[in-house]
Amino acid sequence: VDGEKDSDPMHIVHVTAEMAPIAKVGGLGDVVTGLARACLSRGHKVDIMLPLYECIQKQQINELALLTTYNSYHDGNWVPTNAYTGLVSGIPVIFIEPSNQFFKGQNVYGGSYNELEAYLFFSRACLEWMQVTGTQPDIIHIHEWQMSGLPLLYWDMYHYLSLQKPRIVLTIHNMEHYGECTQEQLSKCGLDGSIYATVEKAIDDRTIGHNPERLCLLKGGIVYSNAVVTVSPTYLQETLCSGWLTSTLIRNRDKYFGILNGIDTTMWNPATDVFLPAKFSAQITEGKEICKLFVQRGLGLVSEDISASRITRRVPLVVCITRLVAQKGLHLITHAIKHVEELGGQLVVLGKASNGRVEREFEALADMVKYLGTPKKYLPESVHVFPDSEKVVARQTSEELSHMLYAAADMVLVPSIYEPCGLAQMIGMRYGAVPIVRKTGGLADTVFDMDDQSHAEMANGFVFEGIDEGSLNWALDRAFSHYREMNEPNEWNDIVRKIMEIDNSWNNTAGKYIDVYSSIRVRLD
Ligand code: ADP
Repeated sequence: VDGEKDSDPMHIVHVTAEMAPIAKVGGLGDVVTGLARACLSRGHKVDIMLPLYECIQKQQINELALLTTYNSYHDGNWVPTNAYTGLVSGIPVIFIEPSNQFFKGQNVYGGSYNELEAYLFFSRACLEWMQVTGTQPDIIHIHEWQMSGLPLLYWDMYHYLSLQKPRIVLTIHNMEHYGECTQEQLSKCGLDGSIYATVEKAIDDRTIGHNPERLCLLKGGIVYSNAVVTVSPTYLQETLCSGWLTSTLIRNRDKYFGILNGIDTTMWNPATDVFLPAKFSAQITEGKEICKLFVQRGLGLVSEDISASRITRRVPLVVCITRLVAQKGLHLITHAIKHVEELGGQLVVLGKASNGRVEREFEALADMVKYLGTPKKYLPESVHVFPDSEKVVARQTSEELSHMLYAAADMVLVPSIYEPCGLAQMIGMRYGAVPIVRKTGGLADTVFDMDDQSHAEMANGFVFEGIDEGSLNWALDRAFSHYREMNEPNEWNDIVRKIMEIDNSWNNTAGKYIDVYSSIRVRLD
């Protein structure tokens, strides 16, 4: 949607490991696509540079064309590398494809190559491409530890070659991953790794578990970038108080900002979403009921609560859509599976386990209920269906199913132990699912408790603070009694309408990034 244009357009190049929907693992992919689209519509020139992962489905790229063939450096060799252009969801992308084994495999992450070395190579390959083609954007916007070698390469190498204009913004989406790296590994991209082994530069001086022999790529990225952003104001405060990189962040406080992520309302729009069996909006919510019935039937769940009053005979449906990692509150998710059933509700977990132990734990939970094996025809083949139970555990990642579940849900559960920003609660609200969240990071910035009178205007969900099961029960119990004890049949619907109208889009927050970009850009004319 073309809205107001900014008066002084800039050229912004994102350098990233993920981009939704073609190479998305978590929120990073959504954020890059959403922010890029918002800046484009404000009149800026935006490109995204992404590895051409073997797993990317090429038919999702429009106008894919070879742009440049050039050499980029790795470990003493110049590697022939192709740069392609293409359009993904209307956004210009430059794909980098080296002729070595990097970025081969079935998934974005976890290939049989060394990931750290591959992303260091990619960081240099992006700068090399800019140098070879004479491309000098105003801003190079890098993301996460993977790209944190880029500012070192820029300021200590390419800035002395021909790149003068770009300034660098680093967004940290999750501080837990920091890119531990040996001096030798860093040297493979052509820098002298030993000169970064100081407290001021990139020596690993994390407060806990540090390894003084090692470098910390993310720390180097913080030190060498012109501005550092993390993804919510509360997470910014949390990271300044405790955590791996607190002392480094405090030293760099003047250039450290907290900007809440938005959601891409083009991709996440229940009024136009191609994955939904029926569309809906805050004005016309009937389609949501159809989506709920569709998912319940598809999963073999009952849809009528015969024990409830006539007004609320519908069974409350809760969804939890997440990577199954410790950060996301695994013990609270497994507890919720039991407690929601006790409350007579339905919980669908769409979760991808990160390791075999978690996979087995959730499989065991799924095995506690009878598994009939044949998915109903409404839903993607790979979904596991447990028709005799009111709980469903789908052990996978599915973009399509995630859209359907957000649309079907009455409530979305996000019980994270920590959460830099969190998108599930925002997407859930846009699809009329009331969030139930733990008060941490970006969840604390976006969800306000319905029973807290001090900010009734903003009330939009249910919030709990503890990491124990009792705290979660308290929030679930209140959510269910609100759902069931509404005096008027439309009262819950009023809440649904209210949360659907909250603007968590990038229109609201992209301007804060533009301000950061503007504050560091230079003009060389
Ligand atoms: P994180 O980046 O830590 O994974 P976020 O809440 O920032 O968490 O972003 C998660 C994004 O990934 C959301 O768009 C969510 O819908 C999506 N997602 C998470 N798990 C799955 C899954 N199993 N299947 C499909 N989408 C998922």
